Amino acid sequence: MTERTTCVVVGGGPAGMVLGLLLARAGVEVTVLEKHGDFLRDFRGDTVHPSTMQLLDELGLGERFAELPQSRLTEVAFPIGGGRRVVVGDLSRLKVRYPYIAMVPQWDLLNLLAEAGAAEPSFTLRMRTEVTGLVRESGRVQGVVYRTADGATGEIRAALTVACDGRSSIARRQADLRPREFPVPIDAWWFRLPRKPEDNPSALMPHAGPGRFAVVIPRPDFHQIAYIARKGTDPQLRARGIEHFRRDVAELIPWLADRVDALTSMDDVKHLDVRLNRLNRWHVDGLLCIGDAAHAMSPVGGVGINLAVQDAVAAATLLAGPLRRGVVTPAALAKVRSRRLLPTILVQSLQRLMHRVVVVPIINGRRTGPPRPALAILRRVPQASYIPAYLIGVGLHPEHAPAFARRPQAGRPANGRSGPSTEDSTHSGATSTTT
Ligand SMILES: Cc1cc2nc3c(=O)[nH]c(=O)nc-3n(C[C@H](O)[C@H](O)[C@H](O)COP(=O)(O)OP(=O)(O)OC[C@H]3O[C@@H](n4cnc5c(N)ncnc54)[C@H](O)[C@@H]3O)c2cc1C
Repeated sequence: MTERTTCVVVGGGPAGMVLGLLLARAGVEVTVLEKHGDFLRDFRGDTVHPSTMQLLDELGLGERFAELPQSRLTEVAFPIGGGRRVVVGDLSRLKVRYPYIAMVPQWDLLNLLAEAGAAEPSFTLRMRTEVTGLVRESGRVQGVVYRTADGATGEIRAALTVACDGRSSIARRQADLRPREFPVPIDAWWFRLPRKPEDNPSALMPHAGPGRFAVVIPRPDFHQIAYIARKGTDPQLRARGIEHFRRDVAELIPWLADRVDALTSMDDVKHLDVRLNRLNRWHVDGLLCIGDAAHAMSPVGGVGINLAVQDAVAAATLLAGPLRRGVVTPAALAKVRSRRLLPTILVQSLQRLMHRVVVVPIINGRRTGPPRPALAILRRVPQASYIPAYLIGVGLHPEHAPAFARRPQAGRPANGRSGPSTEDSTHSGATSTTT
């Protein structure tokens, strides 16, 4: 079966859902294809930054976002022994409407965007629909080939295909776009431990020990923990087993030692092969890559979602006009990369610097925290913590909603539907889930 739309978006992550919503608000016929049946996944990062919350406000979604279960991070602090700590990033110093990072399960944010999309007549979200290839004709990408969960296949033709399918993007691979990989010294392992009422709710706390460190991210009902160690050591970690891992965590984060038994097996500990890469060209004729498909980020700073959202806003702003006219030239696609390249390079460069001066010395056992001179400056001049806070929370060149996408704050979607519009043949699309 061959169908037509104006823009087909591969992947319903933060980049794809924001792009789909914004283009639909511009009146562009847009179809988002997502291979999963809902937005419930393994933990993929739950940070919503001040600039993204500002954007949600501009889209008229701020009030509904505020209703989602969330905890707020106002600072990033490093323990320096003797019960003392140094604040390295103080978000409360930011002169913005939301001077904190909201920790919201990513599926809640995606459901919110899906619901907002469902209110737009030209928005379609198809769950359980996996893109398996690109349609190419006359040297141009003309759309995608897909397969649904029940095995049906089809083709969707479009004036533009946007790859928002993340760091292992099939659309990017099929377009022969290869990212430049930057060496990354670390991998991450993610797990949860229970939270107690007396735990500090608002600080992101890194804990360093010889050869590894961990970041504790407080959530309303539990702590999400990123354990960071040398790249390639997942097999050894698993071979040593859960008993050893529990002891390691208890030693690294003594205040969580009383609950490490909540980890019942190494299956509770999810491995992330950390990658940092970037495409040189983000497009070929008929296809554009944005978000992780154009640049996978290190977890340092937790900025991947924010950058993916910013790319989507820039793409919608620059391409809504050409899409409405039905002609999207390579030159128009190149403008998206031009606009987003500098913020991407800046953030990735800072992440690589952090790998070199903070992460590598810790995992090599040479230090247990940031360099002493940096800590000394931050202790003496606490105002300096504004700079990391700004770079993490707002970033360079924050994007704002284009006029066509802005809406006043409103309650529910105008059509009263509580779920997203889906054409899922087997299942009614995204689920509304709260924790
Ligand atoms: C374990 C982990 C922790 C992270 N922690 C953080 C954090 O704390 N803060 C932060 O900002 N970032 C974090 N990140 C990174 C962040 O999740 C990404 O940078 C961000 O989600 C990128 O958004 P995206 O929309 O570009 O891609 P993704 O979020 O990867 O979305 C891609 C979507 O495409 C779908 N898809 C893939 N292939 C196909 C296909 N062939 N057909 C149809 N659909 C397809 C996927 O199912 C997915 O829904 C983390 C990532 C991981 C893996």
